[in-house]
Amino acid sequence: MSTFQFKAKLYGVRGSYPIAPAEGTKVGGNTACLLVRTSDNIVIIDAGSGIIKLGKELVPEILKHKENKDTPFHITMLFTHTHSDHLLGLPFFAPLYFPNVHIHFIGPATLGVDFEQILRTTLEPQYFPVSMDELQSGKTFRNINENMFVYFNPDDPEPQIGKVSDNEVTFSTFSIYTMKYYFHPKDGTYLYRVEWKNKKLVFATDVEEYVGGDQRLINFSREADVLIHDAQYTPEQYAKFSGYGHSSYPMACDAAKQAHVKKLLLYHHDPNNNDDMLRDIEKEAQKLFHASELATEQWEWVL
Ligand SMILES: [Zn+2]
Ligand SMILES: [Zn+2]
Repeated sequence: MSTFQFKAKLYGVRGSYPIAPAEGTKVGGNTACLLVRTSDNIVIIDAGSGIIKLGKELVPEILKHKENKDTPFHITMLFTHTHSDHLLGLPFFAPLYFPNVHIHFIGPATLGVDFEQILRTTLEPQYFPVSMDELQSGKTFRNINENMFVYFNPDDPEPQIGKVSDNEVTFSTFSIYTMKYYFHPKDGTYLYRVEWKNKKLVFATDVEEYVGGDQRLINFSREADVLIHDAQYTPEQYAKFSGYGHSSYPMACDAAKQAHVKKLLLYHHDPNNNDDMLRDIEKEAQKLFHASELATEQWEWVL
């Protein structure tokens, strides 16, 4: 029996590329990966280097499932976008190599290329020795767009995709809504709002906010329990890198304040910012929005 009904956990918090500094990092050196799950439904958002550790942690559960059930072990994987820092851990995600696992890949087409094609390309022999079809797990691929949302029926481990225009799926206690965010080069990114019962967590990485906040993002995040928001830069760094598709921490605080979220996690840390600099950012952010904290690889929310 699991000891939780719902769990969210960060496995990667770094932006751009993974780091392993000689002095170590308590905040975390792995790139983007978030787990949100219930006892039946496992959802992973993004496959940065953090997904490698998560994959290893899932192996005992996969083996146990195999002993008790003939049905596949289902994992749903959502992608915000397919920049390499959100994808580079995928080939090393251990569950891909288990024949009794079925992975539901859901993500955006980019610049006219289907999501499935993008993932397959990264496993072409020029880039990786094992192709998508040689990986033993079962797989399905679906494009996502803003008119869709992902939900789970009670006692069913497979994800369903609904149309927002069909209105609410009131019987589902676990749903994930999407919003396309356009200000990230070169074809935007997707935000995800995870809703479990009456709890809400918003994952808003790789967004470059506007001064005063983006009203669409604020509406999408309104009164969330947790907002995980890009805060790659200090204002001084942002002055050099505006247009790169990332926010400064005051921008993240602005959005959090206006959306009245209960907690803001500053996310997608610049690989050049060491732990001391990040702790300074956290202190400054708390002056702007009191419920701010650094996203770390230790962060989890268990209900
Ligand atoms: Zn990124
Ligand atoms: Zn990106």
